[in-house]
Amino acid sequence: MMKNDLQIKIGLEVHCQLTSLRTKLFCSCPSNYRNSEPNTNICPICTGLPGSLPSINEQAIKDGIKAALAVKANIADILKFYRKNYFYPDLPKNFQISQYDKAGGVTLASKGVVEIKGRRIHLSRIQIEEDPAKISYEGTISSSPYSLIDYNRAGITLVEIITEPELKTPRQARLFLQKLRSILEHIGVCDGGLEGAIRCDANISIKGGKRVEIKNIGSFKEVERALSFEATRQKTINNRNIVGMETRHWDDVRRVTVSMRVKEEEQDYRYFPEADLVPFRFEKKFINSIKKTMSELPDARRERFVKEIGVSPSNAEVLTSDKALADFFEKCLEYQVNPKRTSNWIVSDVLGFLNREDIEVKQIRVTPKEFAKLIRSVEAGKISEQTGKKLLLKTLTTKDDALQIKETMFRISDPDEVNKIVEKVFNENKKAVEDAVGNKNTINYLMGLIMKATSSRADPKITRKVIDAKLSTLR
Ligand code: ZN
Ligand code: MN
Repeated sequence: MMKNDLQIKIGLEVHCQLTSLRTKLFCSCPSNYRNSEPNTNICPICTGLPGSLPSINEQAIKDGIKAALAVKANIADILKFYRKNYFYPDLPKNFQISQYDKAGGVTLASKGVVEIKGRRIHLSRIQIEEDPAKISYEGTISSSPYSLIDYNRAGITLVEIITEPELKTPRQARLFLQKLRSILEHIGVCDGGLEGAIRCDANISIKGGKRVEIKNIGSFKEVERALSFEATRQKTINNRNIVGMETRHWDDVRRVTVSMRVKEEEQDYRYFPEADLVPFRFEKKFINSIKKTMSELPDARRERFVKEIGVSPSNAEVLTSDKALADFFEKCLEYQVNPKRTSNWIVSDVLGFLNREDIEVKQIRVTPKEFAKLIRSVEAGKISEQTGKKLLLKTLTTKDDALQIKETMFRISDPDEVNKIVEKVFNENKKAVEDAVGNKNTINYLMGLIMKATSSRADPKITRKVIDAKLSTLR
């Protein structure tokens, strides 16, 4: 198995929407298309009506450069757009305004590198292009009796990041995508949590076989699954010559790849310069001004966590591979908690929970303040680490406020313990006990005394039972 895995070559083409933008790439339609009715977030430009002309969204170029700088790519000195021709209903113009790195063309950036667990994955190029429309099917692509097209997404700015085929396992491919998402989120250009904001095509080949491209992979988890399936499929075809160069579709319902078409050759796209957009030369000053706006990147943050906060290198790696997770961690630190314990809890317990439930950090309901309080309770010896972790899992997705958490945290529900407290209160309040023996209506007063004695921590139901039992022996 290991030996075979070494022969796998995986490359990724990742389309990332610049969700930070207010408008589309070449028109002034809103960039946030997600909550509008189908085919309402459109205009003559993004639907390619004859006579309409595109104009470049300046912020889109700036954010695209930012993304390229974040992965240490070399920014081209000129911006050129090309037409990528193909006939498909998701492109009303019959061409996509994209970029091309041959025949005098150049993409926004080239080279670049993303580090995952100390391994450097090299990028070949980064380009900026418009998103096509979204096509939906009933069930799967192969069985659907119709296709539905929504042009709201057409013209949204995409940054396409293409890796060298250097990834060696499906797992690595997933880690790469996670890291890329974290990088883009750290610089604030793409919210990877939005449906369809980061979409990936993967190509995979096994030594001796041809390159197969897999399209339509919905999530990072699916990327890993699709690649694992395809690796196994290619391995089982004994005669490598059977694996032809083709495009396969990932059917996430049946979890298999299905042959779509023989892969089109580059010349099929008949690339030629987009004459409606003149080339634009970048000045050094312009690029430098963008560099100045870059915020801390995951790798730098990881180093800081290790060197300045004392987090273990492996925990720091995990934390910074998800911006929301790293943010949560740093917010907890504002409440005087031990960083080591806090990072351990987040990486093992919180992350474990998120993976099991298949939910995002954003869906965590417990606040860093509550979380820190729990940890401090453990550190102060008020509760055991085990109890603390149990409570943590309970509060992760509930909206319990501080008081409720505290109540559950310190609730006294052990009957023996309640019994002791009741006894003590009874001894100190003989008159009230006498009253309660004769008059049931005064029992609430005793309840109140016990709640006061325990700062409301005594479990009311159990307390009531214990009181009733004690009173009945006195009657
Ligand atoms: Zn438009
Ligand atoms: Mn593309």
